[in-house]
Amino acid sequence: MQTTTRVAVIGGGVVGASVLYHLTKLGWSDVMLIERSELTSGSTWHAAGGFHTLNGDTNMAALQGYTIRLYKELEKITGMSCGLHHVGGITLADNQDRFDMLLAERAKHRFMGLETEIVTPAEIAKIAPVTNIEGIIGGLYDPLDGHLDPSGTTHAYARAARMGGATIQTHTMVVETNQRPDGTWDVVTDRGTIHAEHVVNAGGLWAREVGAMAGIYFPLHPMEHQYIVTEEVPMIADIVDAGGEHPHVMDPAGESYLRQEGRGLCIGFYEQPCRPWAVNGTPWTFGHELLPDDFDKIEDSIAFAYKRFPALEVAGVKSVIHGPFTFAPDGNPLVGPVPGVRNYWSACGVMAGFSQGGGVGLMLAQWMIEGEPERDVMAMDVARFGDWISPGYTLPKIIENYQKRFSVSYPNEELPAARPNRTTPMYDIFSDMGAVWGQQYGLEVVNYYAQHGEPSYETPSFRRSDAFDATAREVRGVRGGVGINEVHNFGKYRVTGPRARAWLDRIMAGRVPQPGRLSLTPMLSEKGKLIGDFTMSCLAEEEFQLTASYGSQNFHFRWFTSHLEDGVHVENISDKRNGFQIAGPKAREVLAACTLSDISDMRFLDVRRMTVGMTDCIVQRVSYTGDLGYEIYCDPMGQRALWWTLWAAGQPHGMVPFGMRAMMSLRLDKHFGSWMAEFSPDYTAAETGLDRFISFNKNTDFIGRAAAEAEHSKGAARRLVAFAVDADDADVQGYEPIWLNGAVVGFCTSGGYSHHTGTSIAQGFLPTDKVADGLRVEIEILGQMRPATVTLTPPFDADGARMRG
Ligand SMILES: Cc1cc2nc3c(=O)[nH]c(=O)nc-3n(C[C@H](O)[C@H](O)[C@H](O)COP(=O)(O)OP(=O)(O)OC[C@H]3O[C@@H](n4cnc5c(N)ncnc54)[C@H](O)[C@@H]3O)c2cc1C
Repeated sequence: MQTTTRVAVIGGGVVGASVLYHLTKLGWSDVMLIERSELTSGSTWHAAGGFHTLNGDTNMAALQGYTIRLYKELEKITGMSCGLHHVGGITLADNQDRFDMLLAERAKHRFMGLETEIVTPAEIAKIAPVTNIEGIIGGLYDPLDGHLDPSGTTHAYARAARMGGATIQTHTMVVETNQRPDGTWDVVTDRGTIHAEHVVNAGGLWAREVGAMAGIYFPLHPMEHQYIVTEEVPMIADIVDAGGEHPHVMDPAGESYLRQEGRGLCIGFYEQPCRPWAVNGTPWTFGHELLPDDFDKIEDSIAFAYKRFPALEVAGVKSVIHGPFTFAPDGNPLVGPVPGVRNYWSACGVMAGFSQGGGVGLMLAQWMIEGEPERDVMAMDVARFGDWISPGYTLPKIIENYQKRFSVSYPNEELPAARPNRTTPMYDIFSDMGAVWGQQYGLEVVNYYAQHGEPSYETPSFRRSDAFDATAREVRGVRGGVGINEVHNFGKYRVTGPRARAWLDRIMAGRVPQPGRLSLTPMLSEKGKLIGDFTMSCLAEEEFQLTASYGSQNFHFRWFTSHLEDGVHVENISDKRNGFQIAGPKAREVLAACTLSDISDMRFLDVRRMTVGMTDCIVQRVSYTGDLGYEIYCDPMGQRALWWTLWAAGQPHGMVPFGMRAMMSLRLDKHFGSWMAEFSPDYTAAETGLDRFISFNKNTDFIGRAAAEAEHSKGAARRLVAFAVDADDADVQGYEPIWLNGAVVGFCTSGGYSHHTGTSIAQGFLPTDKVADGLRVEIEILGQMRPATVTLTPPFDADGARMRG
């Protein structure tokens, strides 16, 4: 057996095989896959082999498109068959919300190059005659949908990898992974030890156990899943005899997926009475066996399916496949460098290996070889969960995810499982004030306050929600007087040491501020992509506070630690420094009433330590509301005292508590972008206008400098702009296509209703040569073309008089 390798991929399911192939495809040939049994010995062998592009996350959908297109390439390279059946597929909608979701998906597909189309019930009956269209209002047809042979496909990946120089070691069980001081790994197997520079965990059903060998907890869990293959179905036999194939049909109302299998049908269910499997760990003895049939669990689903697909009722059951496969808490894969563990990579939690395996392999290989993936992969980045994640959280989320697999996902939806989980000292106080909570990165965050009879539950919707009036009231409170909200949901970092300034100068593209000042700065990848949008505050010459997205903490901290230098110390203090933001024209008066410090000379972007009431705080004059405002940070132990001080001082000015719904409306008034919407690794500083915060004249070779300079001098091909939208009852959410003269020329990044200005505002990208103030375009919202106008000047405080005054 080979005893050294650059990469040891543990696990020979479809995902491990894809990772191995993509490593060779991108140029690394000294790579090795280690499989304890034969290839496909986990979930892979018993999969139904279906593939589709539909995914609520646009980047995931694009990667699913890549995966599906790859199969023909694999067949060509290897001469092996993947058993491909590109039969197309229809997702049914039996109510308006489901149909709205399909309309929104269709719209996104326009600029993703996916040729899906909305079909009527009559067309569905024609394309997929096995469907009873009673109660169906429409569907989404995707010609790329289909199915394949799971084993043939995995072996095709494996052969392609071997052709690229990879080694595959089957019947070899990894029993330990031990890191050497230089960061490389000893992968101990039952047949000897392999010394590897990098380890990839593609252990599928055993990924938890493989992770534990390196002391890593992977938040995933196997769920039982069942599908049935029928005997011959006359209608299908007729189609086959006529040389045709029946397409796939996904029926979200029945939580089922159906396809042709030979001369019969195959149908699988995501049933509500679902069951997690192997809660205490996957047995090493489990392999090529199935779980016992369990018709009780799917009884209701079968009854529903008989109505939707009447041909099933008379078809005999040929076989039942009941097996386990893994899910992460949000149903997306766990991919990328594991934070805090050098040279250890994750390729697990892949619940749809035949839709996603290719994309996972490509992204991971790019990350390992080129340093970063070509697109934003936050939706599947293993860093999207923090240190707070635990098996007690994972299990209920996974059950919820399985049960909601076919449910409508609404943009304003808050999922209830495993909540409340993480709360600050304000939780009970805010709950008593009517807080309607949302969840971000495990943390409870107020969406709005239900007062004066406003709804205490925000009904999920694609249209304006019933939180509209409460949000409007909070916005009025801020713009007309003063509002207060918590700053717990910022990621916060303390950077100290003699080399702190020099390090920040290299890590951040912007100018590092002098003591007492703060600056806004993009953080760039080597290729010039936006990987952060930070506020950088200089508290003293060797002490800085950074603030950014709370949800990207692990993502950012992984970057910081992997670029750390001697003489600088970086600490994640996101949950150690809390506090409040006060914003609105009366904010200064409120703060002045709470502190003995003189704040009359405190300028926009100043930062100072001061005592507020009894609490020692860091106060900075900046606000994402775009108004006169202050962020006031303190130790969580002093947070309640700080609250009572600010709240009492705010009463004469009619202070209102406000939540994230109001915050996102207020930022639109100023056309401020939002992290992971306008600003993400999919975009560059020049495209988004954040290059105005880059210090091109500092003499530091900051990360991403060359790429940023090149784009800055050449000019970006597309540009982020804002639009005033003539909306009806639905605003832009993100990824809606922008039409000009009958063609799609761009897409939206986010939007919403600006309550202060009474306008529906969107932001999005247009080709730079098309950008002109007042340009009339159309934005497709839920299938309707809405007129929109490019607006280059923000409708609120355009000259900054209020914010800076
Ligand atoms: C009933 C059913 C139907 C499904 N239908 C579909 C479908 O239609 N479409 C779709 O896309 N997906 C489907 N899936 C899901 C699909 O099977 C998985 O997404 C996919 O197989 C995951 O592949 P994997 O490589 O991550 O994991 P696995 O297939 O579990 O592979 C992991 C491999 O790692 C090996 N391994 C683990 N630990 C070690 C160790 N210590 N040393 C050496 N080797 C080790 C195992 O032996 C195994 O071969 C279905 C799943 C089920 C259960």
